[in-house]
Amino acid sequence: MSFMNRVNEFESFDFDGYFQSVTTADIETSLNRDHLEPYDLLNLLSKPAQMFLEEMAQKARLITQQYFGRTIGLYAPMYISDYCSNHCTYCGFNTAMNFKRTGFP
Ligand code: SF4
Repeated sequence: MSFMNRVNEFESFDFDGYFQSVTTADIETSLNRDHLEPYDLLNLLSKPAQMFLEEMAQKARLITQQYFGRTIGLYAPMYISDYCSNHCTYCGFNTAMNFKRTGFP
């Protein structure tokens, strides 16, 4: 399934209703899965999941080590302008931010 299909699938989704229906058993089931699906993510973002923070941290650590091993990645982005066509709301480089630019358009 493509990312856009996922976006369309959840476009009119009743997130509040879903979050209110999540039980601790749902959260435990999600934590015990080998492969997490989108509804598992919702379960782990629900309010009752606050009681499982340590279990989620352990699961996240396990998955991270499965994908990357015991490594540390360091990134040093090099910006060659103060203009970015993405619209990350927290970032001053995004094109929607209005200030006098020193780089390209
Ligand atoms: S708007 Fe900022 S945070 Fe978002 S991609 Fe561009 S430079 Fe990165």
